[in-house]
Amino acid sequence: MFCWIPGHSGIIGNEMADKAARRPATVVDNFVPLCDALQAVKNQLTKKWQRTWEEQNQNKLHEIQPMVKPLKNYALNRKHSIVLNRLRIGHTRLTHKFLLFSEPPPTCTRCQCLLYVKHILVHCPSFDIPRRKHFGRNICLKDLLGATPHPNLLHFLHDIGIYEHI
Ligand SMILES: [Zn+2]
Repeated sequence: MFCWIPGHSGIIGNEMADKAARRPATVVDNFVPLCDALQAVKNQLTKKWQRTWEEQNQNKLHEIQPMVKPLKNYALNRKHSIVLNRLRIGHTRLTHKFLLFSEPPPTCTRCQCLLYVKHILVHCPSFDIPRRKHFGRNICLKDLLGATPHPNLLHFLHDIGIYEHI
């Protein structure tokens, strides 16, 4: 027959150590590594930034980048990278050079509407055939310019003759 008997039972010094160990101030270990604290702050800021961005759903950039995390740039060279970024923000030489020259904004010769990036890439019937050839049917701006740009985007721009005007 075995019977467990605490070895320190009845020894004053050990009893005091047990009491001290049970007090909350000595039990709680508040140490948090700096990298964990920084990551927690970063996560909270990102969540707040995301909430703020979601409130701006009328912003034209929201369609392309609904999440605040950075977009990757899959462009092969600097020129392609510039073209992709200009298309993403919707400001190209083709659509916005009028601001520099104090001219009226350009219009689509076929549709008579203001010329803007989304019209060219998604809506203008003048480019339906090359659009279907490169993207298939029902393409949206996010599919073309979102987190993973469409692999045929630059070919499409070359095909319709505006790559050099971006
Ligand atoms: Zn048009």
